Amino acid sequence: MKNIEKVEALMKEVSGVWQIDCANGKTLSETLEGFSLAHRIAMRFGNFNYQVYNGGILVYISNRYFADAYEDMLYYLKKGAETDYAPFARLLETFQTLSETYSGGDYDDKGNCRTRCDACDGDGTEDCITCGGLGVLGDDENDNLSCGMCGGDGSTPCDECGGSGEIVSDLWECINADEFDSWYDTICDTDEYWCAVVTLMERLATEERN
Ligand SMILES: [Zn+2]
Ligand SMILES: [Zn+2]
Repeated sequence: MKNIEKVEALMKEVSGVWQIDCANGKTLSETLEGFSLAHRIAMRFGNFNYQVYNGGILVYISNRYFADAYEDMLYYLKKGAETDYAPFARLLETFQTLSETYSGGDYDDKGNCRTRCDACDGDGTEDCITCGGLGVLGDDENDNLSCGMCGGDGSTPCDECGGSGEIVSDLWECINADEFDSWYDTICDTDEYWCAVVTLMERLATEERN
């Protein structure tokens, strides 16, 4: 049996169960808890391969595969980077960068994620530091001067978000998705790739048994 056929056979077994689980609101991680290590690795690398192959790494992320899989993938890729298959080291680097930048929100297929700014609670403003939010300067009520810093508003645009109330993270920038996709294009779906996945699967399964 060819390596890709081994992976696809395992994926097929999981997919049948996941379709039902998914309709019941379970995550793929939850479904995979009931499967062997070989099934889990086949599913993680298989999904990654097909998502990136068809749409690019940002589609893998915006379709929420990344959020569910990255902890597993980091573990497998750390193990995989010890083997002779050099591309695993670059994949590991990419997953590390992504997981450091990942904010837990939903990303679009451009790699942007908008989350509410914590510093201002989504308001976009913060109390003016010059007048402490009062809008006026001086303690004597008769002597109050309008605060020049905030123009008497008492608030200034939030430093964190620049006044938008949102933090936008840009995953495209941090991993250079275009370059990644063209590199991945040269290894995905090759027999060396599937061979490396199957070798990793077998090695880790042996480790797990011992
Ligand atoms: Zn002020
Ligand atoms: Zn803010």
